[in-house]
Parts: sequence; structure tokens; C-alpha cells
Amino acid sequence: MKKTAIIGGGASGLLCAIFCAKNGISVDIFEQNSKCAKKILVSGNGRCNITNTNLTCNDYFSQNPLFMDYALKEFGFREFEKFCQSIGLLLDVKEDGRVYPLSNEAKNVASLLINYAKNIGVNFHTDTKITDIKKLLQEYDAVVVATGSQAASHLGGNEDGLAFAKEFSHNIIPTYPSLVQLHLDSKVIKKMSGAKIEGEITLLVNNKKELTPQGHFLQGACKGDILFTDYGVSGFAVLDISQGASVALMEHSHAPCKKCPWGVSISINLLPNFNAQKLSSHISSIAINMPDFTIADILTGLLPIKIVNGILDDLEISTSTCSEEIGTKLSKKIANRILDWRFEVKETHGFRHAEVAGGGVDTTEINPKTFESLKQKNLYFCGEVLDVVGKRGGYNFAFAWASGYAAAKAISRG
Ligand SMILES: Cc1cc2nc3c(=O)[nH]c(=O)nc-3n(C[C@H](O)[C@H](O)[C@H](O)COP(=O)(O)OP(=O)(O)OC[C@H]3O[C@@H](n4cnc5c(N)ncnc54)[C@H](O)[C@@H]3O)c2cc1C
Repeated sequence: MKKTAIIGGGASGLLCAIFCAKNGISVDIFEQNSKCAKKILVSGNGRCNITNTNLTCNDYFSQNPLFMDYALKEFGFREFEKFCQSIGLLLDVKEDGRVYPLSNEAKNVASLLINYAKNIGVNFHTDTKITDIKKLLQEYDAVVVATGSQAASHLGGNEDGLAFAKEFSHNIIPTYPSLVQLHLDSKVIKKMSGAKIEGEITLLVNNKKELTPQGHFLQGACKGDILFTDYGVSGFAVLDISQGASVALMEHSHAPCKKCPWGVSISINLLPNFNAQKLSSHISSIAINMPDFTIADILTGLLPIKIVNGILDDLEISTSTCSEEIGTKLSKKIANRILDWRFEVKETHGFRHAEVAGGGVDTTEINPKTFESLKQKNLYFCGEVLDVVGKRGGYNFAFAWASGYAAAKAISRG
């Protein structure tokens, strides 16, 4: 009987183990944590956005942009759904294509995958950190590196997979945190901590709207929740823009330099349903109709109080400025700042807080159909350890499932 070792009991390792075992292969899965699937357990705020119905290469970012095409076609949403149904894991497909378990519980996804794997004979070795991959390659017919990325170190994120890859002379594409909060350079940000709005964020590099070289992630502004924190911003719109921001921070140091005097910044539109004309007219007309109001009173009809105080502080306008002092010029100034508030991005909130990492093992050195290393026979890489990072919306799990499946299929065949 053929023997396979899988390093890492996360999403891609579990899927790979299951399909190897289903094909009659003896599987040992080695997991450094006391429990497998820690990232599945916390995913999607405990609900697990398990995949997406629309999976294309455009939903991913990699130096090798078409690498994931074959795997996503071989084991896309329909194939994954069929597998889930076969183990009694029913799915809830949302209108926008996001998919969750019907139970709405991430822990059920983790336990079903682990229990099913155990039922079909996968041998689990938890609390077992692999350090010597070459030894494993001598002992097993195939070794799968499914160690994930550095993101979320408290859940097991580390660079072990990259170190293993380097032992076989693989090139590593520089890694960076993605789906992560941003630190902003502003004296007023702390005052707004806790305030939340539905807004729009645009990434600017050197004060120009940024489209990354491949243009995948940043086509215009990201809309959604923006939450102000002590250090900067978080929320869905921020996570969505963070991949581009993180790449831009790597490429252009945020500190102004000759090539990029304005560094990396974001523009926040706090009221995307207004235009400048409509908003300044609104401010002016309330000022006329409510002579006893202050500018703070007028703006609190539009925005959370902490943000009102922050924006007025930033513009150096007193909150007690009374209605009769608010002329057209001031209304326009405030409206323009509300619709285009610029902040320098200092850094991201780091790997520890990131959901995923971009960069990783260079996929030009991996067979896209089998996920076998082109440098070392019988060595496979799947999941986030590779230079493939997805958008928010179930895409990262989708790639973990698809790559785990592809490696299992190749190991079973070979
Ligand atoms: C908070 C959070 C929420 C998320 N929510 C979603 C979501 O809703 N939808 C989505 O698509 N994606 C989500 N993700 C991303 C998703 O979890 C990952 O993309 C996915 O888990 C990657 O799978 P993987 O198998 O490559 O790595 P992982 O799931 O990280 O598994 C790797 C495993 O390898 C183990 N390991 C590492 N080194 C060794 C070693 N030397 N020896 C033994 N074991 C080792 C680790 O402990 C870990 O268990 C989220 C991530 C986080 C952190």
C-alpha cells in the first residue's frame, strides 16, 4: 500500500488526506497544534465562508495569474458541493455567490471533515511539528506540504512551508499580509476609535488611484463597513483594499521617496450616496433653516459624532461654529473632506491579524495539474503556502480544497 505524509491539518491538508484515503492510500497527517483545522474553526466569524459559486483566476492574485485555473475547473463549486453532500454537509448559497454551511457553524465543518477522515482511515498525529522534511521523503512515497502561511500565528500560521521549499531550492515570492487592517498616520484617528460607517475606500499611490500591475483586486473603490480603531481602520471595505495596500507598501516605502513623494494613502468617502454639490447645499440649507445650530449639530445628522469631531478637528474648525458663520465656502470645504478624506497608510496590522498571506512558493515551479514540485519528485505543495491569495468571499478555502484535491488525485494516480 502506498504511503503519503501530509504536513498540516488545515483545509488543504484535510481535503488532500480524505481524497488520498478514499483512493486506498495510507495517509499520515501531521499537525503541530493539539487540534486540526483551527483556521476553519474561526473562519467567517464562526460561520465559515466555505467557498464561492463563481471561481475564476480573476478572484486570485499571484505572480503566475493563471496557475489556479486548472485546479479550480477540476474541483470547482459543483464538485465541492457534491463532496460535501456525500458526507452530509449541506450548503447555503447566498445570492452574491458566497457559500456557508447550512448549519451556519464553522465548527461543524471542521468536525465533519476530521471525523470523516478518521472514519476512512486517515491517521492523525496532532501535537507533532515536522522539522525534517527530507527524512519524511525517505519514509513515504509522497509528501504534501500543506502548512499554510504566516497569517494568524496564534492559529498555527508560520513560515515552515517556505523553509521546506527552500531546502529543495524553490524560489519564494516575498510574502505580505492580506485581508488585514491598516494603520493610518493621523492625529485625529484615535478620537474616532469605535465609530463605524458604510463608506467607500480608494487606494492611492503617490496620490493617484492605484490599479495593481495585474489589476485583479483594485478596480475602483471598495464599498462596505469601515470601522475606525485606535491605530487606523478595519472592516470589510478595508480588508478588501488591503491586498493592494500591502503590495503597494512593499513596492513603495510609505515614507516619501523620490519615486513616490506622496507614499501610499487611502481616500475615504464617508457618504458615497452624495456628491459634493448635493452635500454642500445640504449643509448650507440646514445652516440657514436652523440658526441656533452649530456645525457639529448639522453634521451629526449625517455622521457618527466621533467622526464629526474628528473631521472638524482635522479641518481645524471649532465644533461650536454657529450656523451664521457657515458660508458656501466652508460648506464646500467640509463636503469635500467628507467625500474624499485622505490618510497616509503607515503599515498593515501585520501577519498576526491578517486572514491570509500573499506571496509564497513560486508557482512557476509547481505543476498546476498535480501540484507536484518541479524540483523534487514526490513532493507536493497545496493551499496557502503557495503564491496564490484570494479575495474575501470564500475564495481562499476554494483554492485550499481545489489544490488539496488535485494533489490527492495525482498521488493516487502516480
Ligand atoms: C480569522 C480568519 C478567518 C478566515 N475566514 C475565511 C473564510 O471565511 N473564507 C475563506 O475562504 N478563507 C478564510 N480564511 C482563510 C483560510 O482559513 C485559509 O486560506 C485556509 O485555511 C488555508 O488553508 P491551508 O490548508 O493552506 O492552511 P491552514 O488552514 O493554515 O493549515 C495549515 C496547518 O499546518 C499546520 N502546520 C504548519 N507548520 C507545520 C509543521 N511544521 N508541522 C506540522 N503542522 C504544521 C498549522 O498548524 C495549520 O493547522 C480565514 C483565515 C483567518 C485567519
